[in-house]
Amino acid sequence: MATYSHSKICCFEQCPLKYKFQYIDKIKTEIEQTVEAFLGSMVHEALEKLYTDLKFQKITSLNELLDFYNDLWQKNWNDAIVIVKKGYDQENYRKMGEKFITDYYNHYYPFNQGKVLGLETTEFVDLNDEYKFHVRIDRLDEAKEGIYEIHDYKTGRYLPDQAKIDEDRQLALYSLWVLKTFGDVKKVKLVWHYLAFDKELVSERTNDQLMKLRKETIQRIKKIEAAKEFPPNVSRLCDWCQFRPICPQFKHLYNIEDMEAEEYLKDDGVKLVNKYAELHEKIKDLSDELEKVRERLIEFAKNEEVDIVYGSDVKASIDSYESFSFPSKNQRKEFNETVKQLGLWNELATVDTYELAKKIKNKELHEELIKILEKFIEKKKTDLIRISRSMNNNNNC
Ligand code: SF4
Repeated sequence: MATYSHSKICCFEQCPLKYKFQYIDKIKTEIEQTVEAFLGSMVHEALEKLYTDLKFQKITSLNELLDFYNDLWQKNWNDAIVIVKKGYDQENYRKMGEKFITDYYNHYYPFNQGKVLGLETTEFVDLNDEYKFHVRIDRLDEAKEGIYEIHDYKTGRYLPDQAKIDEDRQLALYSLWVLKTFGDVKKVKLVWHYLAFDKELVSERTNDQLMKLRKETIQRIKKIEAAKEFPPNVSRLCDWCQFRPICPQFKHLYNIEDMEAEEYLKDDGVKLVNKYAELHEKIKDLSDELEKVRERLIEFAKNEEVDIVYGSDVKASIDSYESFSFPSKNQRKEFNETVKQLGLWNELATVDTYELAKKIKNKELHEELIKILEKFIEKKKTDLIRISRSMNNNNNC
């Protein structure tokens, strides 16, 4: 039975290439962790300690808890942890964690909102006969008899709205495990603690919603398993991706990043892209200039009432011809009907191969149809170069 977790499915949704690196090729990277992930795990451990102590009838004082957190931070911090955001250091993040814990502590003291049934669970729930889902609940409480609460701590700087929370997949799937495990469940509440905002968000799911979600998750997993291509999906999340040094979108940047100015300017890639951009710019300037001269030449011929304008050893012939313009593709319904009524359709209409190629590429056509069409299709790879401004210039230069 294959096991999937929330983070595994999210990884594919975020970037199929990252998924391939992480879960198929299982590549280990030098970048161990980002500071955000480190902060999250330190705060989670501190809150786990708070509730573990409670089970032993001990209410840890805030100072004790902060000492525990700071001690954990010092022992586990290492230089491989990456700080992406410019202008902030380890100390800023450590203090953020302190604030999250302090606010949480003061908000929920004396922590008697419910009976703690589980902390950082490592359970699994069957989605069907093929797949099981990893259930890692930060804290499972029973608030009143039969009223279960799945608590999740968030340490990010993003506060979602209620609509997003009501669509969340992770805790909703965890509630399938709660429903299956406990016989007296009357209600399962999903509770998120957005620690940076000292805010609690709550949602619930009906049985129908859960069944639908289970089905959708199975379909998503099947889609992941059927994937043959794993294209990169560049987004702002790339800044936190541990595979940047080997990702084709950023690998060259990593190769040149630490070069001295002289070495950097000798790099073939740097030289070629600089030259390409320079020529590209020149061609653009020249074609703008060409268009202006063309307009002036036509005007000259008109004013002088001549068809040919003679230069030193060249001449330019100026011809005028009539061109026809028909309704655009989206407004052709009536026009197409008229062509059909006139009996001209078979003679004049052609297959829109651009649209057809798009449908094949986006897998909008059934595989059987594509197979039938395949004998007419010649596949070739076209290389494209797009020039855009890069924010990652080598500082040395
Ligand atoms: S850096 Fe971005 S595009 Fe590359 S693998 Fe990571 S998430 Fe995907």
